[in-house]
Amino acid sequence: SLPFFDAIIIGAGAAGLFCAGQAGQRGLKVLLIDHADKVAEKIRISGGGRCNFTNRDLDPAAPHKHFVGQNPQFCRSALSRYTPADFIALVQKHGIPFHEKHKGQLFADRSAEDIIAMLLAECEAGGVTRWQPCGVRKIDFLASSASESCRGSYQIDTDRGPVSAGALVIATGGLSIPKIGATDFGYRLAQQFNIPLVERKPGLVPLTFDGAGWAPYAQLAGLALPVQISTGAKKSRMAFDEDLLFTHRGLSGPAVLQISSYWQEGTPLAINLAPTVDLPAALAQGKARSRKLVSNELATLVPSRLADAWASREADWQRPINEASDKALARLAEQLARWELTPTGTEGYNKAEVTLGGVDTKALSQQTMECKAQPGLYFIGEVVDVTGWLGGYNFQWAWASAHACAHALPLP
Ligand code: FAD
Repeated sequence: SLPFFDAIIIGAGAAGLFCAGQAGQRGLKVLLIDHADKVAEKIRISGGGRCNFTNRDLDPAAPHKHFVGQNPQFCRSALSRYTPADFIALVQKHGIPFHEKHKGQLFADRSAEDIIAMLLAECEAGGVTRWQPCGVRKIDFLASSASESCRGSYQIDTDRGPVSAGALVIATGGLSIPKIGATDFGYRLAQQFNIPLVERKPGLVPLTFDGAGWAPYAQLAGLALPVQISTGAKKSRMAFDEDLLFTHRGLSGPAVLQISSYWQEGTPLAINLAPTVDLPAALAQGKARSRKLVSNELATLVPSRLADAWASREADWQRPINEASDKALARLAEQLARWELTPTGTEGYNKAEVTLGGVDTKALSQQTMECKAQPGLYFIGEVVDVTGWLGGYNFQWAWASAHACAHALPLP
């Protein structure tokens, strides 16, 4: 007979490693399989190498504030049973130094390697068997006959031979950064078992603009400044106050990464390039007391490279401010406060931090992450249609969904 495990987890990333350790420590015999050479590559490169492992500002009762998906309420149960404070306690127990940055974001002081080492130690404590690198070739479900008490089993054909398990956990993540091991394995497996999927799209991704239309702004590449960025109309409007970064091909920086998860193709973005300045008043005052060029006066209100680029767009703005008409200055203020532009697309999965969409939450139990129509099959982490904001929310979803699953897996 085949080697048997209580649970086999596929994908040794954030969610898979954490789930394996937790389930192993509950007394389950766990096998964790990953096809990549190195464990947890995405944690390694996360947060600029320091891993933004969670965020203090997370209200599990209001998940729509920090999570995107067809039904953000789905993650409420898992997020409230495993909170940022729980993960912080684990980090502290392992003696890992960390610090808080911007808006509640927590980072490892030394390196993301500390977080990976912690997850591996947790697996070790749970007696988890790890096969890596090891590809998975085929998965079959053997339904139990009516006379048997068990719920059926999964037979898995791997590069190291066949194995079977009572429960199968899919933690293969999303499609971003294919060069470090991302695949569509989880989505294909969902299809094999008739589990519905929500359309996938790159999220937390830089946005691009068409070549000719972008040419006047390409000279601003490298410039970063705080903005307010928004998309959508009325009730669906989303806005972020974050830093914007100009690139050669388009726009990036936290403001654009955040809005990219809400942006719908073909629709415009609105950017306030001076959200903390009353531009009409400031320009009127400039006109009353100064003879400097409009661009020089503007450079006291926004970064000078932006001021120069903007003022060069109209002849009316290329003169001393006291000679500029009130109308021309009003137009300048208005344009800077509401720069409307329509991206042509995104930089795609090579640059995206996450994948929007995935396994439809309607098919899963929010308490356990188990498929309602397929006993013993669980999906956790990014493969599910739950996407967090930038700032540690994606890892917190990985930990929380893994925890919910690990504590629901049937004991032998
Ligand atoms: P992953 O961590 O991606 O793990 C999936 C695992 O499955 C991988 O090890 C992969 O090798 C394996 N796998 C895939 N296909 C197969 C297959 N066919 N067979 C076997 N194994 C397979 N989030 C934050 O919260 N904070 C951050 O600071 C942050 N920074 C990021 C920076 C970058 C550059 C990127 C790309 C993402 C970042 N994220 C961050 C997002 C975060 O990394 C993911 O949301 C998170 O890792 C998802 O966890 P997961 O376990 O679901 O998937």
